[in-house]
This record gives sequence, structure tokens and C-alpha cells, in this order.
Amino acid sequence: MSHFGVFFSAIPKLFWSEYSDQPFQKCLSCEVPLVECDLHVIQKRIVANEAVMEMAVCNRCRDKQAEEMSEETRKNVTEHMMACFQKRAAELLPQTEGTHVIEVTEIEDPEEGNAMLERCLESCLMCGTAREKCHRYSLAGLCRDSEMVVQVTPVGQTPFLICETCEQGMAHLVSKKTRDAWDRFVEEHFDGPPGVELDSPSHYPMAF
Ligand SMILES: [Zn+2]
Ligand SMILES: [Zn+2]
Repeated sequence: MSHFGVFFSAIPKLFWSEYSDQPFQKCLSCEVPLVECDLHVIQKRIVANEAVMEMAVCNRCRDKQAEEMSEETRKNVTEHMMACFQKRAAELLPQTEGTHVIEVTEIEDPEEGNAMLERCLESCLMCGTAREKCHRYSLAGLCRDSEMVVQVTPVGQTPFLICETCEQGMAHLVSKKTRDAWDRFVEEHFDGPPGVELDSPSHYPMAF
């Protein structure tokens, strides 16, 4: 069994819209049907097993969002995530000296692929706290049409979950400019009380 690989799975229920009780259909931002987009990203924020924020955004809108992030934030968040992926990968790599050649190939066996998907979501990417012990956490995953891209490499992982504590630990990486851009996005696309949950700087959704 390899720890690394790519697998295309049906979108797990954890990544469905709780509001509609089915997979997300449209981009939150431009409303284009997601099946017409190359890729889309799903993000959810869970508190006590309930989504307090959920969204699917097409890759084009996602790129636009990334442009609005300050250069500084993008660099900070990318570096932080990278360090985190590498730390996790280091635990999976053979404990021998020298260079390891890791092949990241497509997993054909659904059982193996689903086991990898489960491993991605069983605990916080950063601190390893089990999901059932996290009261509040965020989920993020990359999808292609009606499939979820499950990918674990030594430098990246999708999907993933991050507990609130670890997310708060990243708040200082996010600049005021980025936070303001996010607040505007939230104002435009969400209404009502969930927004209250959202405008804290620690809740800025993580970039891939
Ligand atoms: Zn869009
Ligand atoms: Zn954590």
C-alpha cells in the first residue's frame, strides 16, 4: 500500500451541501454550473457536526479570489501549508538516508483509494487531532465534475481538514488587505447570522 497517489472518488457526503442535501450544483460566485467548470473547490466550516458555512467555487473565481489576496498573505499561507505537508510526508517516507523517489500514480483499486480518502479526513492536517474530537473545523477539497480529486503527494494533500486551533494559529499570516477582501466576499454572498461566525480573521479559508 502506498501512502501517496491520486484517486478520483464520488464526492463524499461530508462535501455535499447540507443546505440542499445533495452535491453542490453551482459556483457560489458566478453561478456557473460546476459540471461546466474544469475544477472547483468546496469549503465548509463545521461546528458541532453542522455546517455554519459552505461553498463551492469554480476555479476561475477561485483564481480571482487568490489575486485579491495580498502578495504577503499568499506567500505566508503557501509556505506554512507547504511546511505542514512536508512534515506529514516525512512521517510517511521510509526512514532511510538519501533521496527517495516517490511515485505519485493513479490508484486503480477503489478500496485503496477510499482508504486514502478516509485518511485525508480522519484528523487535522496540522496537529493530527481526530475529527470526532474537533468541535470546530474547516474542510477543503478539490473536485472535477462530480468527482472528488483525492491526492496525496509529499508536497500537498487534498482534501483536508484543519481544526480551529490550528486555523487560529494561522491568523497572523493573513494581512488586513486579504481579510478585507474576504469580508467583502462574505458580505456579498452570505446573509444572516452565519456571517457573524465568518468575519473573524481566523476563519479566512485556506488556499491550496
Ligand atoms: Zn465561478
Ligand atoms: Zn489542528
